[in-house]
Amino acid sequence: MGDVMSEQNAPRAEAIVDLDAVRHNVALLADRTQVPVMAVVKADGYGHGAAPVARAALAAGATWLGSCSVPEAIDLRKAGIEAPILAWLYTAGEDLSDAVAAGVDLSVASVDELTAAEGARVHLKIDTGLNRNGCPMELWPDLVKAAKGHEVVAVWSHLASADEPGDPSIDRQKARFDWAYQVAVDAGLTPMRHIANSAATLTRPDLAMDMVRVGIAMYGLNPVPQQEDLRPAMTFRSSVVHAKRTAAGESVSYGQTWTTQRATTLALVPVGYADGVPRGLSGRLEVFLAGRRRPVVGRVCMDQIVVDCGDDPVRPGDEVILFGPGDQGEPTVREWADILGTIDYEIVTNMYRPRVRRRYVGTK
Ligand SMILES: *Cc1c(COP(=O)(O)O)cnc(C)c1O
Repeated sequence: MGDVMSEQNAPRAEAIVDLDAVRHNVALLADRTQVPVMAVVKADGYGHGAAPVARAALAAGATWLGSCSVPEAIDLRKAGIEAPILAWLYTAGEDLSDAVAAGVDLSVASVDELTAAEGARVHLKIDTGLNRNGCPMELWPDLVKAAKGHEVVAVWSHLASADEPGDPSIDRQKARFDWAYQVAVDAGLTPMRHIANSAATLTRPDLAMDMVRVGIAMYGLNPVPQQEDLRPAMTFRSSVVHAKRTAAGESVSYGQTWTTQRATTLALVPVGYADGVPRGLSGRLEVFLAGRRRPVVGRVCMDQIVVDCGDDPVRPGDEVILFGPGDQGEPTVREWADILGTIDYEIVTNMYRPRVRRRYVGTK
């Protein structure tokens, strides 16, 4: 990232996405499974940018793309991407003709959805225990029967607890899935099968079946307890706007929750909760600035945070890394998630906002 860091123009709120990291992660996952890889780029590529990530993933060996909504899938087509795409969530009565025209595959979980998806290539979704969308087992034989005459590409499902390796629900879901697939085969269909997300791809090779759908691991964030050679793709950075000496006994930011114990240098950084720095990190956040980690003091505001730099020389324009891969000792997405009691998915998707400029590095 040296080319970026040496830029004259100090960034305000910038998410740097390393497409070489995406390629590395996709290649690792593809190598691990030996079956086709669907790169899941919903929510604008988990906040990383759907089209650039999709292109990098396809270049690194993925052959399918997965999106949540139909407009997300059509945006990929508009970006000139021709790989097969599956979209799995649309609303009752949503006009699906654009999806059909764009050659987007649709997930179908009921006879009504099958009717709505007329003309589309469909992936029949069985609910094997997540109890979210997906066709209930008792309605499955009827759905399969109704699907005759439609282009049925796959039977598929989604796991509830693949990120807890050994959880008994995983084998239970597999057994129900095997049953559903057999019903489809007995009815004369010849679908492919897919059920594995990132966690299952990394821990359950027997669930790879005919394709795996990988999201979070492709972005370099590890969903399972075991060590994996994944590279986090996103770095979130800003820069110092100004730095000033402040006397002892002065409180900082709204609510005066923190007070200087001695004279110190405070640096102002122009990012806040409107830029994806959750206010819940107030008093618990560190940033990497001028060679080391330093505490963010006082409350996180909408547009600004304040960093205590002690007696170190800090100047306007100095780079501030909020999170990154951790190579230099900067905080990671996982650290933010742990502090907040959430998962790293939520941190990176939260960076999908107009105030945060995205910049791509690595092979486009
Ligand atoms: C988001 C999603 C995935 C990818 O899950 P990861 O845990 O990010 O790998 C796969 N399948 C479906 C249906 C999803 O919604």
